[in-house]
Amino acid sequence: MGRQPLLVANWKMHKTIAEARAFAEQLGQQSARMPSGVELALCPPFTTLSTLRVILPSRVKLGAQNVHFETHGAFTGEVSAPMLTELGVQYVIVGHSERRHVFLESDDWVQRKTQAVLKHGMRPIVCVGEDMAQKDANETEAVVEKQTTAALAGLSTAEVAQCVIAYEPVWAIGSGKTPSADDAQQVIGKIREVVRTLAGDSAADAVQILYGGSVKPGNIAGFSAQPDIDGALVGGASLESASFLELAIAMAGGDSL
Ligand code: PGA
Repeated sequence: MGRQPLLVANWKMHKTIAEARAFAEQLGQQSARMPSGVELALCPPFTTLSTLRVILPSRVKLGAQNVHFETHGAFTGEVSAPMLTELGVQYVIVGHSERRHVFLESDDWVQRKTQAVLKHGMRPIVCVGEDMAQKDANETEAVVEKQTTAALAGLSTAEVAQCVIAYEPVWAIGSGKTPSADDAQQVIGKIREVVRTLAGDSAADAVQILYGGSVKPGNIAGFSAQPDIDGALVGGASLESASFLELAIAMAGGDSL
């Protein structure tokens, strides 16, 4: 089906400008080792975007971790889509579980943000996933179906094909625990079927679906080898340039460590 593998780093609230600069410089020194055939993106804090835009190796695309759905207005503390495109941002994480659970973002907000990102020519990385209680209650597939359906509602087939979806079980994020690669494949296969029902075969076959949650250089290949898993969204293991590079190399099929 020809979906390109995609590795996305999510730095969360880590790194000052000086620290981001050091990462970019170290990565630049190793850029010959960056595998071709894997799309690379980095979602740093807003404050580091303008610096990284200049010094990050151009193979690594810039992403943001959040966006507001309005273009401007009285929304203290928020950042809009045009402000991101001006900085060269091409991806925006939408509905990360920390936004949903800590900042109480609703499915409705996730939908509006997804639409705003697409309208401004960027690609949303829509995060879905169950928490531990929902997993224990066997509600995983129902949860990802509801969140995926809400996020993609009202989009055209072409717009859905531009989306990236990240399956991130809440209990796996930052915990060192992961589902097995087979279990992640099962849920991600389900998400692809939900997309098929909503938007048809071409969108379902094109949409890149990532796994996220405690991905490391040592386990990424197992996930990305699954037929429906097109890459990974990585937090902690993306903070050091050496580790980010190892993730990319392992995902491309090379030795990870
Ligand atoms: P983690 O975070 O890799 O540190 O578990 C993943 C994420 O929250 O996107």
